[in-house]
Amino acid sequence: MNAIVISCGTELVTGQCVDTNSAWLSTRLTAVGVHVVGHVTVGDDAARLSAAIRRALDEAELVIITGGLGPTPDDLTREAIAEAIHEPLQENAEALSQIRGFFERWQRPMPESNRRQAMTPRGCEVIANSRGTAPGILYRKDHRRLYALPGVPAELKAMFDSALAPMLDELSGGSRIESARLPCFGISEARLGDVLADLMRPGRNPAVGTTASQAILSIRVLAHGSSQAEARRLLDNDVAEIRRRVGEPIFGEGEDTLEGVVGALLRARGETISVAESCTGGLLAKRLTDIPGSSDYFLQGYITYSNASKMDLLGVPQALLTEHGAVSEAVARAMAAGCRERAGTDYAIAITGIAGPTGGSPPSHPVGLVYIALAHSGGVEVVRHLLGEHLTRDEVRDRACKVALNMLRLQLVARSGGPP
Ligand code: ATP
Repeated sequence: MNAIVISCGTELVTGQCVDTNSAWLSTRLTAVGVHVVGHVTVGDDAARLSAAIRRALDEAELVIITGGLGPTPDDLTREAIAEAIHEPLQENAEALSQIRGFFERWQRPMPESNRRQAMTPRGCEVIANSRGTAPGILYRKDHRRLYALPGVPAELKAMFDSALAPMLDELSGGSRIESARLPCFGISEARLGDVLADLMRPGRNPAVGTTASQAILSIRVLAHGSSQAEARRLLDNDVAEIRRRVGEPIFGEGEDTLEGVVGALLRARGETISVAESCTGGLLAKRLTDIPGSSDYFLQGYITYSNASKMDLLGVPQALLTEHGAVSEAVARAMAAGCRERAGTDYAIAITGIAGPTGGSPPSHPVGLVYIALAHSGGVEVVRHLLGEHLTRDEVRDRACKVALNMLRLQLVARSGGPP
């Protein structure tokens, strides 16, 4: 079944209110196997709204409108539906008694303006609103259905659960869906696209797609089956195949984060970590300690912004700083080694770089140049990264932390005998 969600309200198109209802509805619809093929947002304008309703009814079997059912003159969903389906608005006795009942339970007189909310296009059914005054509206034509639900998120959710969810379960005819997200780091979206091209073919079941956010790529898999078990089997097959093809860049599943995964590995191995940060100013320590229970493995962080602090706190030799500069492989290496020794941890990470917005000197030190060192029992590894001059200061710091966490993750995975 295809669906279109129409959200209505001038506050949405002017950006004063973020349309969370469409996202919520789409998540719920997708979870029961309904294909949401579009979202439309319209201001409080009856002509535009009714045109959007007509188009949506042409294109989808299920149309859900959210908002515009209130008692004020700018609540125009009732008028727009009437216009779109060519039926007059009439006072609906059942809707009026629901609204009256709401005010009686609330022990308040019903303002005359709420009577508007009892107007429904002829032939439509009304849906009870357990949390507010606005009754919902249901219009059926052949196999198509149009639902008008309130805009207030709590009212919308309650009405969806009581009126739509049971109907959708019935209509899905036992079709079930299962979904998975595999987060990746250290691979480009283009490379992922090449590796997974055949699985990402449009129309294939399971559907496989990728999204990117803040340098984390997510592979999303959505499997439809005639039963939950079949959907799960299809999903598991694809997930195993994707893991086999992509390999190490996949660092977890679901909502896993790099810091969470690294923390779990350290805890499982009973090992500890310390960090020495220059350009990230403590962000790496913050990320590691965002994880509840991180005191099991995170022992210490040094924020060594100045040359003097790199020498005093980490024992970086002055000669290295003079000869190579603070942003250099030699200094990153010395920071990590000093950090590991002084904190007495199994691993130590050091980060030194140019966060911007202005580049370093010499010009060979552009914004985004970072050296990241990882010290462990086998020695110190250092990587030089040009994260990109186009990145903002926050982005450089964010990416530097992610590269560092990923380096540690790969080391921990290798020591644990490879990916699970
Ligand atoms: P009610 O009569 O119960 O107030 P309504 O259908 O008239 O419901 P609207 O007047 O359109 O709802 O919206 C009421 C409030 O609900 C808005 O001011 C806004 O805060 C919130 N809202 C409306 N639409 C959305 C949406 N799509 N996403 C998130 N919040 C919304």
